[in-house]
Amino acid sequence: MTAAASARQILTRLHEIMASRMHAQGKLDRVVEIVGESLTSEVCSIYLLREGMLELFATRGLNQSAVHVTRMAIGEGLTGTIADNVETLNLAEAKAHPDFQYRPETGEEKFHSFAGVPIVYRERAVGVLCVQHLDPRRYEEVEIEALQTTAMVLSELIANAELIDEEEARGLTEEQTGPQTIPGLTLVKGLGAGQAVFHQPRVQITQVVADDIEAERQRVYRAFDKMREQIDNLSNQAEFGVGGEHEEVLATYKMFAYDEGWSRRINEAIDSGLTAEAAIERVQQHTRMRMREIDDPLLADRMHDLEDLANRLLRIVSGQLGTAASQGLRRDTILIARNLGPAELLEYDRRRLKGVILEEGSLTAHVVIVARAMGVPVLGQAKGIRAIIRDGDEILLDATVASATVRPSTQVAEAFEARFAKSREKQAAYAELRDVEPFTRCGTRIQVMMNAGLRDDISALAMTGADGVGLFRTEFQFLVSATLPQRERQMRLYRDVLEAAGEKPVIFRTVDIGGDKAVPYLASDVAESDENPAMGWRALRLALEREGLMKAQARALLEASAGRALYVMFPMVSEPWEFDAAKAVFDEQLAFLRSKKKILPEAIHYGAMLEVPALAEVLDVLLPKLSFLSIGTNDLTQFLFAADRANPKLAQRYDWLSPSILRFLRRVAQTTHGSGVDIGVCGEMGGRRLEALALLGIGFRRLSITPAAVGPIKELVRKIDLAELSEAVTTWLGDPGANMRDELGKWAADRDIEID
Ligand code: PEP
Ligand code: MG
Repeated sequence: MTAAASARQILTRLHEIMASRMHAQGKLDRVVEIVGESLTSEVCSIYLLREGMLELFATRGLNQSAVHVTRMAIGEGLTGTIADNVETLNLAEAKAHPDFQYRPETGEEKFHSFAGVPIVYRERAVGVLCVQHLDPRRYEEVEIEALQTTAMVLSELIANAELIDEEEARGLTEEQTGPQTIPGLTLVKGLGAGQAVFHQPRVQITQVVADDIEAERQRVYRAFDKMREQIDNLSNQAEFGVGGEHEEVLATYKMFAYDEGWSRRINEAIDSGLTAEAAIERVQQHTRMRMREIDDPLLADRMHDLEDLANRLLRIVSGQLGTAASQGLRRDTILIARNLGPAELLEYDRRRLKGVILEEGSLTAHVVIVARAMGVPVLGQAKGIRAIIRDGDEILLDATVASATVRPSTQVAEAFEARFAKSREKQAAYAELRDVEPFTRCGTRIQVMMNAGLRDDISALAMTGADGVGLFRTEFQFLVSATLPQRERQMRLYRDVLEAAGEKPVIFRTVDIGGDKAVPYLASDVAESDENPAMGWRALRLALEREGLMKAQARALLEASAGRALYVMFPMVSEPWEFDAAKAVFDEQLAFLRSKKKILPEAIHYGAMLEVPALAEVLDVLLPKLSFLSIGTNDLTQFLFAADRANPKLAQRYDWLSPSILRFLRRVAQTTHGSGVDIGVCGEMGGRRLEALALLGIGFRRLSITPAAVGPIKELVRKIDLAELSEAVTTWLGDPGANMRDELGKWAADRDIEID
């Protein structure tokens, strides 16, 4: 008989038992008989978790009097080790293993070989299935696989028969059940509490044994096709962003997706009688085990990718396709993901989303900017969270101190609540500054504007008292749409935004799509050649070439501003002619509207974003064309340092307060002053206190920042004297040995200015 046939025979027999009306204990007793017989093993035993201990629930071959008497702690003996490490053991001589422990009541002394597999439920070992043999021999691979398959059937039985309680099923070790603090990197400050929800929900396998093997095989074939298709398209999707590490991940995905060995092993598992889902999971368990034996950190990283992919395959095959957003959030939620695209985040219900924890993430990735705009705290670079956090766990996220607590103790929860209350008080104090104009101590009015991207964001204008919207990212509407937003829809949004803003100015930035803001309906164009999308075909470059897109947006903006002032700026201008070309599109649309006798804007102010360093060298050519210039420090600094803004490995490497950045910015400010062109900063940098101090110190008087930072920055402005600040900053910038962050920090502390 072939290995597959014998495995199938075991499964068929197990299936009959599971389907029978026997009591759970009776079923376990039958299972040990069947497995023992099939593997010609004198002993077969099942240990299940009860009250934190592994208890012998059924055995063939050991003393029956030991059943429900022999108990092992997790980590104790061979069984405890298997459960603790969630891994298989296969030993020719059990006694030779350092963890072996002899239990006299079982009568096991005569047996030599030993093999055991964990019984896994919700990714935790909740029991152990083991076999023992008189002769000292290692069990064969097919036998181990038969054990693993049986363990899966047992886990189904356990779930259905409620053999172990839910609490126990959720975890075993202190790490998995007790409070855990997760350190990370603060990406968006703030506090939030809620239950863990995985962005990509895990698939629970409900049926292990196949009714129709051929049908299962077809399901897996189709799922593989679909997965490969998805992977081939992935680089165009916001989900993964693009560039840097993501490309590496994608390459690994591709390698696995097309790996014949992987699909063959799944097929073999199906041959042995498993459903498609169970086969994928079984193979995955097996791979996990082998990887652990190899113990290579590089491979461990790749394992992470394979886990993602296996989960994707499982979701496809089981039809559980949507992200957690599509299922809707039912309670206050802390969202857990490896990484997210901005569009994906926007799909979540803002009222329920209290925080996000990412395994990756960096400060200026667009998803983080979106989260900041939504007022959702984000902790990034939280390594290994998927091993610690379970779906539904209580989480307290404190992104102000860069950590989160999972399953908090009462004391921790109380301390958190106290900090939360304090932070709310602080917010309330900032709210009081709403109607206070930000004058410095020396009497200079600083423009504190806010960044926005959605219709709802505009309400923050009134709440914060910001001077206007210094950057309206029009591409957000494109990111949240499944199809290209038509001109009429764009017009309605811009008109609503202007109406909501009332007297306050709104600077609309024309679409900045591409880079990490890929939209599926433009994907095929973007994908063609962009290996380096942040520096590729994005923003104005794309808009000028897709003239229809730019024309529609120009007309929508002009019409929406009928009878009032329109402020419009172009992103990623790299050479002055690009500004001319973009403005020409507006001129043409303006002429058209004029010819149609439409009401025109009463004034149009054109501006450019300075994000590409090359533009700084031709300001003499550019400035006469502009009414304002806005520095996008997010992109500018990534280009100055040649450091991908979305690459988590570089997230903390270069400092915004480095002399290179500050000297560059100061030069631009100085060149612009006196030209009559209004200059400001609209990158994330301006929303952080020390960075804002530096920007004010080198001559900037207009900052456009995230709404949550408006209050804190207004407060800061009121505490400074510009002459004093600028003198200090000039001294430090002239001194190559000075550490700007330390110096500014001390300077601020001496003046009772709070820093981040
Ligand atoms: C910037 O690059 O600094 C900027 C404000 O634009 P975005 O973050 O949308 O690229
Ligand atoms: Mg930018």
